[in-house]
Amino acid sequence: MANNVIESDIDFVKDITKLGGGSLKKCFQCATCSVVCNLSSDDRPFPRKEMIWAQWGLKDRLVSDPDVWRCYQCGDCSAYCPRGAKPAEVMAAIRNYSFKNYAFPKFMGSALSSPKYLPLLFALPVILFLLVLQSLGSLSSPPDGPIAFTRFDNYVDVIFIAVSVLVVAALAKGISAFWKNMDRNNVHSAAYGSAGIYKSIILAVEEVLTHKNFKKCDANNIRYTGHLGIFYGFLALFIVTAIVFIGDRVFHMLLPLHQTNPVKILANLGAIALIAGCSIAFYNRIGRKDKAGESSYYDWLFLSVLFFLGITGLLTEILRLSGYAAASYWSYFIHLTFVFFLIGYFPYSKFAHLIYRFVAIVYAKYAGMREPAEDVESGKTEVKSVA
Ligand code: SF4
Ligand code: SF4
Repeated sequence: MANNVIESDIDFVKDITKLGGGSLKKCFQCATCSVVCNLSSDDRPFPRKEMIWAQWGLKDRLVSDPDVWRCYQCGDCSAYCPRGAKPAEVMAAIRNYSFKNYAFPKFMGSALSSPKYLPLLFALPVILFLLVLQSLGSLSSPPDGPIAFTRFDNYVDVIFIAVSVLVVAALAKGISAFWKNMDRNNVHSAAYGSAGIYKSIILAVEEVLTHKNFKKCDANNIRYTGHLGIFYGFLALFIVTAIVFIGDRVFHMLLPLHQTNPVKILANLGAIALIAGCSIAFYNRIGRKDKAGESSYYDWLFLSVLFFLGITGLLTEILRLSGYAAASYWSYFIHLTFVFFLIGYFPYSKFAHLIYRFVAIVYAKYAGMREPAEDVESGKTEVKSVA
């Protein structure tokens, strides 16, 4: 049932301004943005309504609005906004706010939102992994024998299993609150629930894997290419990690894998795709700022961590193959630090967009919210060519 009580939150407007949506006050509600957005639908056009909700400080509406997550920040709307109100950046700022809003525990949401906490956030994994090295007597000199990262397995396993359990619990709490809010604050159409939850999940998986809506963005389609590299690069590395973890711990797989092993080939391709995707994203955000729009601290932090994760992974392998024991162990140490940062802070960083966007897409399909129709899209293209 829709919640008819409208509560304005002035602090929310200040937060959105700080998170990169400072231009929102320039909006005069002309609706050009909703017309040019290729992802906006007839039944729930966006981002005009989000602009007015943000101006009014309607926090509850916005943190429960699935349309905020159906936007891929292509920048088409900002390019055509006659007032320079940058709706794409405002939508991104609302998503960043959501990470904080649904964070559990709350202080972690604040910690990931500001650079002043960055040294502390890195200090935690650095100290943990230094303790591991110290306990193995490897802090001052590399261990004897062939270079083998498996010697750290027992300690590393304990750290990452404990962290993963905490992350899953925190995410479950945040996502469950997000779903309940969407269900409470959006008007249910006659089609609500008709797709069924399993079908909605399957359709959402298909949408995420194919990036089919992301592809519809015009003004900044290079973002789609970069995102594809990052997404599939990371997916490949995730699959490889799962295979190696189970293979090693359950089936006593012989490690390290030979370079011609299909799993190793997948790992190397995944790392290259991840680095290439991040490089495209950096180029887009730095070299094409006029089209890409402003990037927030959340964007830079997430991209940088992913980039260095890929670089240190490849570097560790090259150093190991070259026989530089000390350098390869230290490179592995730094790599583990980035892995920890990415996994351990998942629910509070931009990495969480993966799960919030997925849940919002599932909800939109479950609630019967319409997709932009083909005839509407061609109409929008016409508007653009005239504009
Ligand atoms: S954000 Fe820009 S294009 Fe959209 S309604 Fe406001 S002024 Fe118009
Ligand atoms: S950034 Fe792109 S997808 Fe998002 S609202 Fe604007 S036009 Fe639509």
